[in-house]
Amino acid sequence: MSTTEIFKKEIIKEILEKYRVIWALGHASSLMGWDSETYMPKQAYIDRGVASSEISVLSRSLLLDKDFLSKLDRAKEVYEDLNDYEKGVIRVLDRAVKIYRALPEDLIKEMALTREEARAHWVQARYKSDYNIFKPYLAKNIELSIKAAEYLGYDIDRYDALLDLFEEGLTYRKAKSILDEVASKIKPIFEKVYDEEIFPSKHPLEDVKYDIEAMKEINKEVLKLFNYPWDRARLDISAHPFTTGISLDDVRITTRYEGYDFRRTLYAVLHEYGHALYDLQIDPNFKYTPLEGGASLGIHESQSRFWENIIGRSREFTEILKPVLDEKLHFVRDYDVEELYKYFNIVRPTYIRVDSDQLTYDLHIVLRFRMEHMFINGELTVDDAPEIWNNTMEELLGIKPKRDSEGILQDIHWSIGLMGYFPTYTLGNILSAQIAYSMEKKLGKISDLIIDSRFSDIQNYLKDEIHRYGGMYKPEELIIRATGEDINPEYYIRYLRNKFLTQ
Ligand code: MG
Repeated sequence: MSTTEIFKKEIIKEILEKYRVIWALGHASSLMGWDSETYMPKQAYIDRGVASSEISVLSRSLLLDKDFLSKLDRAKEVYEDLNDYEKGVIRVLDRAVKIYRALPEDLIKEMALTREEARAHWVQARYKSDYNIFKPYLAKNIELSIKAAEYLGYDIDRYDALLDLFEEGLTYRKAKSILDEVASKIKPIFEKVYDEEIFPSKHPLEDVKYDIEAMKEINKEVLKLFNYPWDRARLDISAHPFTTGISLDDVRITTRYEGYDFRRTLYAVLHEYGHALYDLQIDPNFKYTPLEGGASLGIHESQSRFWENIIGRSREFTEILKPVLDEKLHFVRDYDVEELYKYFNIVRPTYIRVDSDQLTYDLHIVLRFRMEHMFINGELTVDDAPEIWNNTMEELLGIKPKRDSEGILQDIHWSIGLMGYFPTYTLGNILSAQIAYSMEKKLGKISDLIIDSRFSDIQNYLKDEIHRYGGMYKPEELIIRATGEDINPEYYIRYLRNKFLTQ
């Protein structure tokens, strides 16, 4: 099927032709963003910031260009006559226009400038574990987020306006009911597993040093198990692992090498692979169109969590990994599959979210979600924030940070103005299990699929149900199409109970 066949209406073709320039600017920005996290010389960050902000201003002006907007209006007049692909194009563009129109240009500029400054101070504050260095910038970011929310508008809760930016259609009420349910059901599972040491809380392999070159080979071997397309994708190194979809044929993931506790680099690769697969399996007809990205952050995260946890942290996958690890990391030969499985699934409360296990991860999200909601509604000041953070950690995880670097200073998000982003991580966890449940109805048990190395069947299922649609459908609609219902934490809780309590 060629592009001309799925996008039939003349007005849509005109819009897509104009859009190609905006796409190209996005392409350049993504490549620049990837470069700044990987190979860019440190001192180039100011120039890169200036170039990026000029590009985003240019791209905004093209999107809000009169001629482009009048074409969009014409397409909206005949919306009901459009096919699903064409409707998707209009929906995605209309949403972007609404957001850009609502936010005045000087607010966007101020946000961009504050972001750079706040991020630099956050880095320093975290390094020195001195919250006071970051505090005024956090206050500024909260103030700007509140302003943005007021410009964007909301029905019930101011925080809704921000949640919607990251997960289309998500509201505080919906997020709260989901997160409260997850927290109240996970907490007793975690406490039982931890108190009774059903899974270990420590493992000797955490301290074992590995050879970085050997580990790089292993990570490549793991991606080979999934037929990672090296002519369309890369694996590089960065301080914080991430995925960038630069185009449908240029998807790049990164990992990091600390030199000990090899599961950290390995599971970063598996996580980012899940993100990459999504981008690699989007319908090629969507090239250069607004449908090129995924449906939402939550759905994207469901794909990374699926490969990292449901596949990657399973006993069956540990069996597949064992010979790959044995060959290049000789110390692994002393541990059998069961021991490795335990090492991959250590359960203990940690101060740091990104170091946390499957059972405590979402409790870290609940904490951030509660605090963001209070910040945005003026119920929490930056002066009281560290104490609230530490007390909530104690309430949820039973441990209390002693230093702000282990507490409120650990995440980059609030420094770069991302308020409303965190809940999408838990949505991703929940959806990964919901999608796995639907997959099993069609393909049989995932454990059997792994044992038989039927990874291509899994990939094809995800392509057919989720990936190929790109940004065509709203996240909620896509999930209902794929699983028959809206997001439902039941499958996730069941999966966790089975894995951690049924040995
Ligand atoms: Mg992710």
